[in-house]
Amino acid sequence: MHMKQPAIITIDGPAGSGKSTLGELLARRLDYLYFDTGVMYRALTWAALEQRLDLNDVTLLEYTARSLHIEVTAPIYTDGRQYTVLVNGTDVTWLIRDPDVDRAVSRVSSYPGVRAELRRQQRIIGQQGQVVMVGRDIGTVVMPDAPLKIYLQASLETRAQRRLAQLRQRGSRLSLEQVCADIARRDALDQHVMQPATDAIVLCSDEFAPEEEVAYILALFDNL
Ligand code: C5P
Repeated sequence: MHMKQPAIITIDGPAGSGKSTLGELLARRLDYLYFDTGVMYRALTWAALEQRLDLNDVTLLEYTARSLHIEVTAPIYTDGRQYTVLVNGTDVTWLIRDPDVDRAVSRVSSYPGVRAELRRQQRIIGQQGQVVMVGRDIGTVVMPDAPLKIYLQASLETRAQRRLAQLRQRGSRLSLEQVCADIARRDALDQHVMQPATDAIVLCSDEFAPEEEVAYILALFDNL
């Protein structure tokens, strides 16, 4: 085991850059909690769509962000899930991956009041330590003092191919062009939270297997 294990590791980057695969692998290796913050924005978006809320109503969305009980627990089922997501007790683990949620989530995430509330909840989890935290703004805003920050990039094509494979596994018939367009649109909307922290290590996942990324990151520990 390594001498100087950072209490918090942040992994930020765009949709489909491989954050969740890397995050889970790294967390398992270190026996840390893996926490994917995108789940919280997705859970809120799912609830808003389910309740047919007006996605332009900032006040209502902020209220919903505060009142919704989002829980992320151990997987429970072995159906390929990395964790189980509960919204007010309902299992929404797969529902939050629906293309409708993909399309609406960046809008819901763009409201500062919504972000403030979800970031507050994320910090509570981060401050407990021994966590690999994945998202867009974790190294810059949520956990700016984290001792090790990774920013994971990949080309649009690689990211779209990965997302397509995931969607196909779940029976989706979207084409590569549609997935590519959806990701590019989300990139543009997420741009305001997608800058790497100045002290982040930038990795490009096009060229590496997840295990190689983990090995690279573990080797960084000696220089922290
Ligand atoms: O990472 P994932 O694709 O699941 O994130 C879904 C959406 O949630 C992103 O497109 C972004 O709009 C939002 N998000 C965010 N900040 C985070 C994590 C996700 O704004 N830290």
